[in-house]
Amino acid sequence: MTGPLLILGGTAEAAALARLLAEEGGGPRVISSLAGRTAAPRLPPGESRIGGFGGRDGLMDYLRGEAVGAVVDATHPFASRMGWNAARACTALGLPLLRLDRPAWVAGPEDRWAEVESWDEAIIHLRRTSKRAFLAVGRQELAAFAGLDQLWFLLRFAEETPPLPPPARFTLIADRGPFTLAGERALLQEHAIDTIVCRNSGGTAARAKLSAAAELGLPVIMRRRPPRPEGPCVGSAEEAAIWVRSVLS
Ligand code: NAP
Repeated sequence: MTGPLLILGGTAEAAALARLLAEEGGGPRVISSLAGRTAAPRLPPGESRIGGFGGRDGLMDYLRGEAVGAVVDATHPFASRMGWNAARACTALGLPLLRLDRPAWVAGPEDRWAEVESWDEAIIHLRRTSKRAFLAVGRQELAAFAGLDQLWFLLRFAEETPPLPPPARFTLIADRGPFTLAGERALLQEHAIDTIVCRNSGGTAARAKLSAAAELGLPVIMRRRPPRPEGPCVGSAEEAAIWVRSVLS
């Protein structure tokens, strides 16, 4: 009997893979792991566990303890620490590892993007050009923007919990999406947004704000993805399910 599949999740793609494998049936036991960043996460089908493992060594203990047979790293494109830990742990234990990574967004002719490597670089742009920005970044990344008291920010998170540390001037709205082009256009206009700041997360759910920005001629400060370990990588849950069947049948 083969060991279970561990899906490092927290993304729509990870949940889609767990769903696909559950629907197919007859496959391996599936354990989805979430970081625990949201208070009330939507749990995928199958088993799940929540919270960090305790670095690479903690992850290795977990993989051994559960006799995991293979790992799919389907974490968010910007949750790269987990990906590096997974690569190192799987290499050390000789476990098959697949990266499930949604394709990055690519700028079209209508888009006005300034691509940056860091938030420090983004802030240089913001200070020069913006008064009212839609700060579409993760909660954990707000610290970089906390000192910008000349700007007002629109924040949008899945939950209403106050941001920490808060920017000097902001409005917070709680919404999980998916977001439509019409809705995003209305939001940008209602709040008189002059710039969007976001990460190149990819996927369709968050793409609408970029299309709305392009329509309205608004600039976007786009943070590039951090580097990931080398290794097999697919862009969809369907391809990942084929890989799972090939290594754990
Ligand atoms: P990270 O820097 O890769 O992870 C930090 C630590 O969190 C990891 O070392 C690990 O702790 C734990 N962790 C992360 N993903 C985990 C998972 N699936 N299962 C168990 N533990 C996990 O990622 P992050 O700090 O969560 O986020 C970095 C960026 O990614 C942020 O900008 C965030 O907005 C974005 N993001 C993350 C998630 C997510 O679910 N993590 C979802 C959406 C967006 P140990 O070292 O203790 O194992």
